[in-house]
Amino acid sequence: MTEELAKKDAYIRSTEAVVVEAAPEGVVLDRTVFYAEGGGQPGDHGWLRWDGGELKITDTVRRDGRVVHVVEGSPPAEGTAVQTEVDWERRHLLMRTHTALHVLSGIIWTDYGAKVTGGNMQSGEARMDFELESMSAEFGREVEGKLNAALAGGRRVQVLFVLRAEALADPDLIRTKVSLIPEAVDPIRVIDIDGVDRQADGGTHVANTNEVGQVRVVKTESKGKAFKRMRIAVGD
Ligand SMILES: [Zn+2]
Repeated sequence: MTEELAKKDAYIRSTEAVVVEAAPEGVVLDRTVFYAEGGGQPGDHGWLRWDGGELKITDTVRRDGRVVHVVEGSPPAEGTAVQTEVDWERRHLLMRTHTALHVLSGIIWTDYGAKVTGGNMQSGEARMDFELESMSAEFGREVEGKLNAALAGGRRVQVLFVLRAEALADPDLIRTKVSLIPEAVDPIRVIDIDGVDRQADGGTHVANTNEVGQVRVVKTESKGKAFKRMRIAVGD
């Protein structure tokens, strides 16, 4: 099992670690600051350095429960002491993008009563699907205004570890299908954004919504009945 430091603190950029497994497809470490792809958030990129070598980490994925750092080139042998550093510019933009999606989903639920049915993100751009009957460009502008106002409100983003029994009784978590999380997971990791959104989540987020900056709604589209998509852009 790899100790995943980003689950508790998304701001750690680098760490010392030891290679637990070295395979052609990637490296497993005893601890990591890298986020493995999942929940709509892409895996981290960065660098793996050791005495006499350096490799670029081009992706981070989860395979059979292990966090695999995908590298280009021959990885160092098992037991090697290494230093890892995440590509912070990319990751921080992902944290901002991911946090914006939470606030967006909270607004669409609170103000329009519509649930999220899907979503995905890259660094600086994302899409989210809603169970809505219609979605116009005008609606997009209205939501953009509300989204930026909520973000600028400086709301705290907390990482909580909630006992499963408690989580299963929480209305916000019930709505976001906490019951689908495997039974062995206890406590459950919850992201709580003050007064806006609360959901079980494994991703990385900024600590305060004002760190997200300006968000633009760049596209609204209909993908079918009660299936509407909104695309947003974060950053420059
Ligand atoms: Zn999240």
